[in-house]
Amino acid sequence: MSKKFSLFVMVIVTAVMLAACGNQTGGSEEETEKLQVVTSFSILGDIAKNVTGDRADVEYIVPIGEEPHGYEPVPSDFQKVSDSDVFFVNGLGLEGWLERLAENVGDINIVAASDGIVALPIEGREEEDPHAWLDVQNVISYVEKIRDTLSELDPEGADVYAENAAAYIRELGELHTWIETEANAVPKQDKTIVISENAFKYFGEAYGFETIGIWELNSHEEGTPGQISRVVDLVQENELPAVFVETTVNKRFMEAVSRDSGVGIAGEVYTDAVGIEGSGAETYVKIMEHNVNTFVGGLSK
Ligand SMILES: [Zn+2]
Repeated sequence: MSKKFSLFVMVIVTAVMLAACGNQTGGSEEETEKLQVVTSFSILGDIAKNVTGDRADVEYIVPIGEEPHGYEPVPSDFQKVSDSDVFFVNGLGLEGWLERLAENVGDINIVAASDGIVALPIEGREEEDPHAWLDVQNVISYVEKIRDTLSELDPEGADVYAENAAAYIRELGELHTWIETEANAVPKQDKTIVISENAFKYFGEAYGFETIGIWELNSHEEGTPGQISRVVDLVQENELPAVFVETTVNKRFMEAVSRDSGVGIAGEVYTDAVGIEGSGAETYVKIMEHNVNTFVGGLSK
């Protein structure tokens, strides 16, 4: 071996050893550096968390209690999204603020969870109804989309995502069957959900309810006297036993409907956000159970 060559080998060996040492510390840092997942709203955050388990950090943008349609992103939202590996949105026009946010954060990976579902139209408008998650079958499709996206970004975690998704899909399947059974308990003539924002159309399609909203989408919220009296007439004509109100909508409009129709508000339901800590409705599955119990309780009297 020439001197020159042996020196060369030594340099290589040292370099490899250094790299190995470096990798060791680098490796353990990488292990704690989890995939950063951001979702647009809290319901989607919970759905994503069920797929990631502990393998990723999941955050959401729109705070609980605020509705996602007309949300105004704040500077920390831009930061969250630009630091993320993937930003899951609902799509179907839910995030009216998405374009503004995307313009401000540069290169980000945006994935619409609703991709591939059959969208329902908004009456009288050339828009799709974004509230697809209120049909559990659509959420199963969301879960598959999230699972596949995460597996592509983090192939080493693919087994974990597949396992988590399968368990969650089983739970969602049971939830869907339970809702079908519960919905059957409501007398046919009373199967109408009267609500401020007409957000239960997907739910109604799936589980056999008619739906009446004071307005179609929160982003067009008006609550005009004409809209109120239209709903009051429908409630009286159909002799409905109850009306409902959302956790994320100003209640005064439905209170006006209730006062003018003489029909009580049977409870609060969740449409666009999960409940706050301690509400008992902190997850998607829990909000669906809560909503169904509220509808069945109010309409089966
Ligand atoms: Zn909504």
